[in-house]
Amino acid sequence: MMGMRADVMSLAAPGADPRRRILVMTAHPDDADIMAGGTVAQWVDEGHEVGYVIFTRGDKGHDDAAMTPEAVTALREAEQRTAAATLGVSRLTFLDFQDGELAWAGPALAEIATRLIREARPHTVVTHDPYAGAPGYRVPQLHPDHRAVGAAVVDACYFRAPGPLYYPAHGAEGLAAHRVTEMLLIMSDHVDHAVDIGSTFARKLEAVGAHTSQFGQHSDLEGFLRGLGARAGAPVGLPLAESFKRLTLS
Ligand SMILES: [Zn+2]
Repeated sequence: MMGMRADVMSLAAPGADPRRRILVMTAHPDDADIMAGGTVAQWVDEGHEVGYVIFTRGDKGHDDAAMTPEAVTALREAEQRTAAATLGVSRLTFLDFQDGELAWAGPALAEIATRLIREARPHTVVTHDPYAGAPGYRVPQLHPDHRAVGAAVVDACYFRAPGPLYYPAHGAEGLAAHRVTEMLLIMSDHVDHAVDIGSTFARKLEAVGAHTSQFGQHSDLEGFLRGLGARAGAPVGLPLAESFKRLTLS
């Protein structure tokens, strides 16, 4: 958080800003809700349209060796549907990649990320920071799926989706090239943009709490999320915030 500049998203009244399409593209159920759930609820309050793309169903994300990947998949998809509904996410897309295997999904990952951006034509894309690491080397940053999704989506936003010579078959299907306006990266060590989540924290808590398989045993989920929010907000004087690395593309 060191050196973060005061760049606080304005809390515009509904209708004050043109309605924007926002696409949140993350590796697993719960990533988006933990890191950006308050921001998503804020965007919905402001009248924007938020879609989620979740590349895996988190089928390895369970500590009980007696669980099967199929059972974990069903559980986590249901949890994510509840969480997304809580936040007002209008479109939820699950892809069928396997948890833990995105790092070697290369060409398929790049193509689907590009295709989804050309289909949804978002103003803003939220994804993992693929360049996170030093100085934090925090565990979520070391997950190979997070880095793989982040790298594929940044690549798609900057180069592939706006480049008509990438995937000409898309054009033949009527999917035109598209350039997003901004990216917000989660789990970053280079944050420079904070969103006040004071008015949406309760919904974020409910959404994250819907991921029972991940947080059902947590002794103090509210305290954990308040701590995250306080640390994100401290550099810009906000009691509760979510923070991002912001990239503007033009
Ligand atoms: Zn994850």
